Amino acid sequence: MKLPYAEPYKIKVIEPITQSTREERERWIVEAGYNLFNLRSDQVLIDLLTDSGTGSQSAAQWGAIMQGDESYAGASSFFELKGIVERLFDMPYMLPTHQGRAAENVLFSALIKEGDVIPGNSHFDTTKGHIEYRRAVAIDCTIEEAADTQKELPFKGEVDCKKLEEVLQKYPKQQIPFICLTITNNTAGGQPVSMQNIKDVSALAKKYDVPLLLDSARFAENAYFIKTREQRYADKTIKEITREMFSYADMMTISAKKDGSVNMGGFCAMRSAELYEKASTFNIMYEGYLTYGGMCGRDMAALAVGLDENTEFAQLDARIRQVELLGKLLDNYGIPYQRPAGGHAIFIDALKVLPNVPREEFTAQTLGIELYKEAGIRGVEIGAVLADRDPVTRENRYPKLELLRLAIPRRVYTDNHIAVIAAALANVCERKDEIVRGYKIVREAPIMRHFTVRFEQL
Ligand SMILES: *Cc1c(COP(=O)(O)O)cnc(C)c1O
Repeated sequence: MKLPYAEPYKIKVIEPITQSTREERERWIVEAGYNLFNLRSDQVLIDLLTDSGTGSQSAAQWGAIMQGDESYAGASSFFELKGIVERLFDMPYMLPTHQGRAAENVLFSALIKEGDVIPGNSHFDTTKGHIEYRRAVAIDCTIEEAADTQKELPFKGEVDCKKLEEVLQKYPKQQIPFICLTITNNTAGGQPVSMQNIKDVSALAKKYDVPLLLDSARFAENAYFIKTREQRYADKTIKEITREMFSYADMMTISAKKDGSVNMGGFCAMRSAELYEKASTFNIMYEGYLTYGGMCGRDMAALAVGLDENTEFAQLDARIRQVELLGKLLDNYGIPYQRPAGGHAIFIDALKVLPNVPREEFTAQTLGIELYKEAGIRGVEIGAVLADRDPVTRENRYPKLELLRLAIPRRVYTDNHIAVIAAALANVCERKDEIVRGYKIVREAPIMRHFTVRFEQL
């Protein structure tokens, strides 16, 4: 008989998690202002808030941590990181930062001015925040099909090149500092972008003489999907695919907390010496000296190992299989999510699960609260709360989708935890006719409000 699948690793360290009762959780969520970010982690059983910085590191990474060089300037750990960045992405200039948004802050300070436009595919929230904070505009050119959660497309995170070309024609190139291509497309459901699409976007970038930036947090998962879904790449290694993806780009920002498999870190990298010089000043001002930026030597050492290990097929295969498993279990219960399953998360289609809760009352947020009360599972809203208000009209923005994201941390939970998540969602779905009202906002920040917003139940 064919043997079943098993993960390519065993577990050396475990961490207990606390059980709680429904009554306790109902009290805690009120105290949290119905914002899941305000919960303490010991009030959570299975934490799917994010896969960012929440993964388990390997024995080799912990070993590298002990070898970290904490020299202020010229640390050997910096050169280990710089070496793997050159090998994987072929970018000769690199500035370490404390995480992805810091890389955006450094690079965008050198690139974006008021009135600019930055086309791309569903810009990530911090990316959009850093664009709008500089009084520039992010223009979403994602393919329309991305908004149809039930449509199965192998590469559902792509740029619609027609939409992109319209933007490139409409604005002078002086007003477009770069195109921002996010791989995988987080906001559209962790959906990948094909090599063909990366190539096409790059060709348009060249035609209109606009640089191309890859927002690369989940580049390795994107490479995995290219290998498994884009025929010509079936026999290529993840590292070969990675090198090709980045050969079409001029620069990159990355949150190393995702596919870098570390708990903290990031960097920006580029081909242009001139841009590096400009960005260096901002790195020194905002992050730290050029050879550590926002990172400890030991963190750079662990990241160098993490980038190498997590660009091996077996690691990515184990992770993406677990996300797919959650998708399959939800299929059994008939729970709709963004199809096909994404690389790092399942995105539940809240408008379909809770059709009685109006969007003005934050449907996906409501579903997230119900799931927490049901089983102590913490997801995150990707909908109207996250979308913030329009910077000009100050009206709430309603994106095409109201999603509850369940992000799966790397190498943290077992398949038994995954089964609990699916069953808890099925229990919430069973009560959907009773869930008719949502929440109203009682306190919010002017930008990136989802982190600190507070609600009242309606
Ligand atoms: C996480 C992420 C960021 C921001 O990185 P942080 O490390 O959270 O600051 C930017 N873009 C994408 C696509 C991301 O997934």
